[in-house]
Amino acid sequence: MVSMVTYVGKSILKGIAVGKILFYEKEEQMVQRRSVEDAEHELARYEKAREAAQAELAQLYERALKEVGELNAGIFDVQSMMLDDEDFNDAVRNMMEAQKVNAEYAVAVTGDNFAKMFSEMDDEYFKARSADIKDASERVVKLLHGKGEEWSIGDEPVILAAKDLAPSETVQMDKSKLLGFVTELGSANSHTAILARTMNIPALIGVPVKPEMSGKMAVIDGEEGIFYVDPDEATLAAYREKLKEQEQKRKLLAELKGKENVTLSGRKIELYANIGSIGDTARALANDAGGIGLFRSEFLYLEQSGYPTEDEQFKAYKTVAETMAGKKVIIRTLDIGADKQVDYFDLGKEDNPAMGFRAIRICLARPEIFKTQLRAILRASAYGNLAVMYPMIISVDEVRRVKAMVEEIKKEMDGAGIPYGDFEQGIMIETPAAVVISDLLAKEVDFFSIGTNDLTQYTLAIDRQNAKLDDFYDSHHPAVLRMIQTVIDNGHREGCWVGICGELGADETLTETFLEMGIDELSVSPSRILPIRKIVRESKI
Ligand code: PEP
Ligand code: MG
Repeated sequence: MVSMVTYVGKSILKGIAVGKILFYEKEEQMVQRRSVEDAEHELARYEKAREAAQAELAQLYERALKEVGELNAGIFDVQSMMLDDEDFNDAVRNMMEAQKVNAEYAVAVTGDNFAKMFSEMDDEYFKARSADIKDASERVVKLLHGKGEEWSIGDEPVILAAKDLAPSETVQMDKSKLLGFVTELGSANSHTAILARTMNIPALIGVPVKPEMSGKMAVIDGEEGIFYVDPDEATLAAYREKLKEQEQKRKLLAELKGKENVTLSGRKIELYANIGSIGDTARALANDAGGIGLFRSEFLYLEQSGYPTEDEQFKAYKTVAETMAGKKVIIRTLDIGADKQVDYFDLGKEDNPAMGFRAIRICLARPEIFKTQLRAILRASAYGNLAVMYPMIISVDEVRRVKAMVEEIKKEMDGAGIPYGDFEQGIMIETPAAVVISDLLAKEVDFFSIGTNDLTQYTLAIDRQNAKLDDFYDSHHPAVLRMIQTVIDNGHREGCWVGICGELGADETLTETFLEMGIDELSVSPSRILPIRKIVRESKI
């Protein structure tokens, strides 16, 4: 008798997996305290195990580098650095020498102490390093016990269920045998979750897993965040069908994945993804986006009942930057107002909100809100390839004021010793005014991203929210197309690259037109990337 049990978890990646469960239990390292006579001998054992651990971490780094990119692979570099850390090593050695205890015990206790110390820190980055210290010191203990890297999934593809998974365990697993994984612990932003997303493995966290699940049939529904154990025939059949569709899509995708967006005559463009939440990053990667061309940061404000703090924003931007592992991520600063109303902003009622107090206008009028966001973006820029762009620009003065604010923040951060990376600054071109003065604006910024949704509404005087006007709305209106050409030409003259991030960028009937116009980048919703890549690759332009 099959008795289906369903669990609700938090989805890390929206995919489906169907298969048997393998329960993974971390081998408990039973560390005993032993008194030793010869501390020198223990010191030598420790040094040998530490070296072997460093060699394993270097291998893991290489493996992760290939699978998930340099930035994510950096976790293993960090772990390696921890094992080289003087304070850590002094603590281990002192314990062996002063207390005359065995190396395993000294490493395990020191590892626990350091992990605890880190977990109590205020800084989220250091807090998260606590798991890395445990991971690294457990590796040394395991080697001191004479155990190597022998755990393997086996020959059958499985859904892995575990209480928790360390990043090193996730990377070590043979991905061709891993259908998906389900864990009880871990957070959506943990490195393991980021790795799962980057590797495109359906995964759920927050599911109570038990060893008895091993060997049972199961389904991960990453769309709904449901884990079915012992699914009934009908459920299984429905998911097998969905899986087939997923596979078909994947095949089509696989053919174009990793290929360049290059025309037959050799013209290359960038195809980036538009995202509106952290979760969308996985979709961007799954669809082989070259970067994020528009990260609509307003979702952080829309989801909350009060202003998101600098730290909350920093975490979100950093997660996306790290997940994209070195690919460009363009964060569009707050674009609230008009159709995106948030009560706590207290914007008041306006007769004409689309032409009202919105986007950069709010940011310039209320610098405390804007500066919080800019500081969060700058801090996150130390963790990846970030760029920032400003919406609804109508004048050179606005751009200069924003840039001055950025400079001010940089100075403050320099003074406080807070790191930030190099980042491009660009503007959205979504008002006719910006198009007309794009020659002047181009002198101020690194790039233009054309927001055709608003640009069309303001050019044609057609409210984009008003369904009654659908018949009048011509997205291919020559005025809009000519404007795009003007912006590209003016941008290029001053060395700016020019992209489109409005919906028109995904219009496949215009891809060749944009190529002819000289567009450098199209930023579209993730699922549109590969179909457009196909057109680009078949184009003679
Ligand atoms: C646009 O206006 O084209 C755009 C990309 O911004 P949003 O749709 O978020 O207003
Ligand atoms: Mg817009």
